[in-house]
Amino acid sequence: MKIKVLGCYGGELPGFNVSGYLLDGKFLIDAGTIGTKINITEQRKIKNILISHPHLDHIGSLPFFGVNIVSNKSEAVKIIGTHFTIDTISKNLMNGHIWPDFTKIKNAAGNNVFEYFKIEHNKWYDIDGYKIMAVKVNHSIPADGFIIGKNNNYFVYTGDTKETMEIWEKAKELGKKLKTVIIEVAFPDELRQLAENSYHLVPATLVSEIGKLGDLKPKIFVIHMKPEYLTIIKKQLKKIKKYKIYLMQEGKIFKIT
Ligand SMILES: [Zn+2]
Ligand SMILES: [Zn+2]
Repeated sequence: MKIKVLGCYGGELPGFNVSGYLLDGKFLIDAGTIGTKINITEQRKIKNILISHPHLDHIGSLPFFGVNIVSNKSEAVKIIGTHFTIDTISKNLMNGHIWPDFTKIKNAAGNNVFEYFKIEHNKWYDIDGYKIMAVKVNHSIPADGFIIGKNNNYFVYTGDTKETMEIWEKAKELGKKLKTVIIEVAFPDELRQLAENSYHLVPATLVSEIGKLGDLKPKIFVIHMKPEYLTIIKKQLKKIKKYKIYLMQEGKIFKIT
């Protein structure tokens, strides 16, 4: 599996975009950033979009992406998420007021532009060759992390969360098949209280979260940093020697093997 990072920050500034991870060129994880980072040919290849939770930095590019792919001669693009996520998007974002409802608008092949696909927690789904499980995490609104795998290589994507348990228990069951953890850290250690109040992690709580995997030592990629605290977060992460920790970078492509 190959992931291209369209945006990996917890805020927007020039050169810093919000969450969007393109898996193998066709499967998008979170939709904060799409159209400003990949051209129309690349956008047309996206078949499925998995959404962790309906905060705007994870869904904000869907409306503009919908406009771009009206001329698609293909099946509907699936927007996948748990019930709360899908209902919130359809009621509050593409609701016919703020933006057209693209599940009712036809593309050039006569199929709907978007189609919603609701998934249940803690259940494996086979979607376009990927095994996918949504697990509840601990955020200010109902939010999910995902465990995603192909050919016995799996990764965890936490989405937005503060301290949580269930996703680590599920991930632990994978044993050595768990290759990578993509985990959020929004603030530096000094702002731990703010992180707690807004349901996010800091470097110190990242260490305790990863510790819940016991002996497993997957590669760790850190995401969702608030751009203004990037330098200090980087310094604090460098001091952690127990795990291989990488800071995610926009525009980068990395492999999960
Ligand atoms: Zn959030
Ligand atoms: Zn977020």
